[in-house]
Order: sequence, then structure tokens, then C-alpha cells
Amino acid sequence: MEFRDHIRVIMDFPKEGISYKDVTTLLKNGEMYHAAIDELVERIKPWKPDVIVGPEARGFLFGAPVAYALGVGFVPVRKPGKLPAQTVSETYALEYGFDTLEVHADAIHPGERVVVVDDLLATGGTTLATANLMKKIGAEMVGMGFLIELAFLKGREKLADYSVFSLVEY
Ligand code: IMP
Repeated sequence: MEFRDHIRVIMDFPKEGISYKDVTTLLKNGEMYHAAIDELVERIKPWKPDVIVGPEARGFLFGAPVAYALGVGFVPVRKPGKLPAQTVSETYALEYGFDTLEVHADAIHPGERVVVVDDLLATGGTTLATANLMKKIGAEMVGMGFLIELAFLKGREKLADYSVFSLVEY
């Protein structure tokens, strides 16, 4: 069975015209969740990261187990106001309006090799903002890995400066 067979597609969520990819159906299947993490780990290992970074919230579900398996650190990127110490922030444009992400200013030692892991690459806005945060705090951005890529949204074009892979494409 492929990962794709365990991703539930919900039409018109969260609004009309969106075909939402629901990963909870993959996450609840132990064999599939394990296999997905293993494959992310195999693809990321050659990049020799020092740190895995995951954006809130589903980036935690995939990024943290990858970091654990590789024996490297995990850094959470969060919505504003959630992190307790000094933060650096990055604001980026959405279809309607703006969003902001934050990371602790001391989350990375300068020069550390960072890989971003998230459940899904859509327009690339979240990942580019995450990469910009990493650069602001002195990291070396190495690449990005995703379970799912909505290829028709061309997120890769926004991330053209980086190595990008995904396990399932729509
Ligand atoms: P982007 O910033 O447009 O690339 O959107 C990616 C972010 O939105 C990721 O953090 C995803 O978790 C979330 N996202 C966008 N579309 C979906 C979807 O269909 N299913 C699950 N998450 C999604």
C-alpha cells in the first residue's frame, strides 16, 4: 500500500473549492506512520543536518520523529506569542492577508545545517518564511522534505534556492 492510499481527501474544506489532504488517516496507522518517517529519514540523512525544523503544528508530527531517528535536535517554528524567550519573526503574504511565524533567536548555533520538515508543501509560503527565519538566526539552510506536495501550486518555484523532496505528489 502506498502512502497516498492512506491520505484522506476532503472536498471543500476549509472552504469551497479546496481539496484538503487529511493526514490524520495516515498518522493513526502505525505501520504507515512508521514507514513515512523512515522514508523521510532515509532521504534527509545524506544531507547531514545538525537540526530539523518543523512549523506548527503538523510539522511537529513529522519533524520531531525524524530528528529523534537521526539523533539531532528539533526546533519548533510557531505562531506569534507562543514561544517564551526572545524571538525572531517573519511575516509573509497569504491569499488574503498576512501571517507571521516565530522562532527563538538562540534556537540554532550559527552555521548549523538545517532541514525543514512539514506535512505538506502547497504555495511554499510557510516553508519560505521558515527558511528566512533560519537565515536570520545564522543557520545554513540545506533542504526541505514533505510528506505531500501539491505540485500544481508550484511551491518549488518559491523554494528554487533549496533542495526539495516530497513522498506523495498531487
Ligand atoms: P503553504 O504555505 O501554502 O505551502 O501551505 C503549507 C501549509 O499549510 C502547511 O503547513 C500545511 O500544514 C498547511 N496546508 C495547506 N494545505 C493543506 C492540506 O490540504 N492539508 C493539510 N495541510 C495543508
